[in-house]
Amino acid sequence: MYHPRALPSRIDCGVFNNTPSKVEFKAMKKLNFTCDCCRFKGTPTKQYPSSGLEFVSIKGQLKLLCIMCAQSQMLMRPVLSEGGVKEFNHGRLIYCPEIPQGKIICVVRDIFALGQYQKANPNRPLRRYVEELRESFVESLLSRCTNLPSLKISNNDLVGYASLYKYASPELIKNEKAVFGGIRYLPDEIVYGQLIKQWLQTSYTPLLK
Ligand SMILES: [Zn+2]
Repeated sequence: MYHPRALPSRIDCGVFNNTPSKVEFKAMKKLNFTCDCCRFKGTPTKQYPSSGLEFVSIKGQLKLLCIMCAQSQMLMRPVLSEGGVKEFNHGRLIYCPEIPQGKIICVVRDIFALGQYQKANPNRPLRRYVEELRESFVESLLSRCTNLPSLKISNNDLVGYASLYKYASPELIKNEKAVFGGIRYLPDEIVYGQLIKQWLQTSYTPLLK
C-alpha cells in the first residue's frame, strides 16, 4: 500500500519523458509498462519511450510508477508544468485511509484527461460524463475524508508534510504505516496539465478514437 513520502529523487524535476536506460526500458517492458500503484498502463512511443513512467526506490525495492504516483513518493520534487515552470505545490494532502492511493490517482487522471480532451473537442455526452465522474469522485471523498475543509487553504501543506517525512527519525520511519498510512496525495489539475496532454497523445489515444 502506498502513502505519500518525501524520498530523494534521481532527477531534479518530474517530467513526462525522463529517458530510461537500456536496462530500465527492458525492465519496463517486462512489467508491461504498468504502474505498480495505480495500475495505469503506459504506451511507449519513439518520442516518449518511458511513457510517463519511472523507477523509484522504495525501502530498497525498485518500483515502476507513473509520474503522478512517483510524485506522491517524492513530494519535494517539483513538477514541470506548462511553460516550463517548476511547480513545488503540485498537489494536496488529505486524510483518507479508506481509499487506496492508487485508486485516487487512477480516477483523478481519467477525470483530468477526459476533461482536457472534452475542452479541446467539445462534446455534450462526454461533458456530462466527465461532470458526473467528477461529482461522484468528490462525493466519495467528502464522505470518507475528515480534513476536506483544509483543502481550501491556499498555503502549502504539501511542503510541510514533506519536510516532516524527510527529517523523521529512523524509528518513526520504521512505523511509517501507523503514522502516515492514512494520508493520500491528490494531484493538482493545473500543474499536471502538460503531463496530461502527453498522456492524451499516448495512452489515451486508442480509448478516445
Ligand atoms: Zn500510477
